[in-house]
Amino acid sequence: MSLAHGRPYLAIPGPSVAPDRVLQAMHRPSPNIYAGELPDLTASLVPDLKGVAKTEGHVAMYIGNGHAAWEASLANVLAPGDVALALPTGRFGHGWAEMARRIGIEIDVIDFGNQSDIDLARVEAALRADKTGRIKAILAVQVDTSTSVKNDIQGLRRVLDMVGHDALLTVDSIACLGVDEMHMDAWGVDICLTGSQKGLMTPAGMAFVFFNDKAAEVRAKMERVSSYWDWTPRAHPEEFFQYFFGTAPTHHIYGLREALNMLVHEEGVEAAWARHAVLARAVWAAFDVWAHPEGLALNIKDPAKRSNAVTSASAPAPKATELREFMEREIGVTLGIGIGMAPGADDPAWHGYFRIGHMGHVNPHMLLGVLGGMEAGLQALGIPHQAGGVTAAASVIAEATS
Ligand SMILES: *Cc1c(COP(=O)(O)O)cnc(C)c1O
Repeated sequence: MSLAHGRPYLAIPGPSVAPDRVLQAMHRPSPNIYAGELPDLTASLVPDLKGVAKTEGHVAMYIGNGHAAWEASLANVLAPGDVALALPTGRFGHGWAEMARRIGIEIDVIDFGNQSDIDLARVEAALRADKTGRIKAILAVQVDTSTSVKNDIQGLRRVLDMVGHDALLTVDSIACLGVDEMHMDAWGVDICLTGSQKGLMTPAGMAFVFFNDKAAEVRAKMERVSSYWDWTPRAHPEEFFQYFFGTAPTHHIYGLREALNMLVHEEGVEAAWARHAVLARAVWAAFDVWAHPEGLALNIKDPAKRSNAVTSASAPAPKATELREFMEREIGVTLGIGIGMAPGADDPAWHGYFRIGHMGHVNPHMLLGVLGGMEAGLQALGIPHQAGGVTAAASVIAEATS
């Protein structure tokens, strides 16, 4: 017997749940890419995407995943031999830095480990030590999806300004755009990147790079940028094909249009941030009750430093894997595996970590279902915990709505 027969729920931190409306918008014959509604539909995405990032700057769209956004962000402003300062707070920060190295960019790294946010004092010291201004860009991940830590992006801008350093502030918001607050212009972010498949509720396949005039000037001084990655014609196309430098991602455009209708025009970006904040607090409240030295623990101890998009947690190996497997087998929920927390999947420690995605098209009944399933799992598997986590989560929902 398995109880899981019913609508499955992929509660991993990306891809997120694709709303039925988005899927239905994509379910159509291939549209003409030379005339008809597609060019206008594509142009209509631009102001809404900028509205999500809170920028009056520019946006380039790519066919690609988050890794494509990484490549695009590097390719437009950094040439082989240029120096960038990477500030990893988890696996994704390291991945971006590694990609930069592979294309010849010299990377300075300050590694903040897997359980801390970026320490601004250490960044300040590194920038002050850079007397000759060799650091051309800072690579910061707003929410590292592996650790679920949320970094202080405004604080990075403050430090850059205080030191008077000219480096571009480049921010990976792939996990959290539309989920955790981003005010690209007000926070002084020069380049911000994301993908379609997390907060933007659209299947993986589109990537976005937002950039301001300062970043555009740095791009203009680059000796060479490949035609494919160049953000200039994509952000300011004279012909339709330049948006994607080739065939447009036809069906994704329809899907994203619908997702942006939901996020920007119906719910509103600020309301979506507020919804995610409540949902995240509900998850943490459950964990606070369940917490046990031989059971569950949240990866990030300080609530102010946790993302509203994803929660990274542990249970002594192999309990985390057992709980994940129970959720899939009996509850119909797929939780995320741990990433970057243990040396590798063949290491026993790997089975001590998991993550819950709560980004995008998620409401209380979905999340309370996940938490209720987890509490059943803790009981069924004999994982030490205190009962009542779901009640605590329900109280968070009740308080937020009364
Ligand atoms: C998901 C994610 C990526 C990678 O995106 P892919 O679509 O898997 O290439 C990079 N950075 C962050 C912070 C992410 O959450």
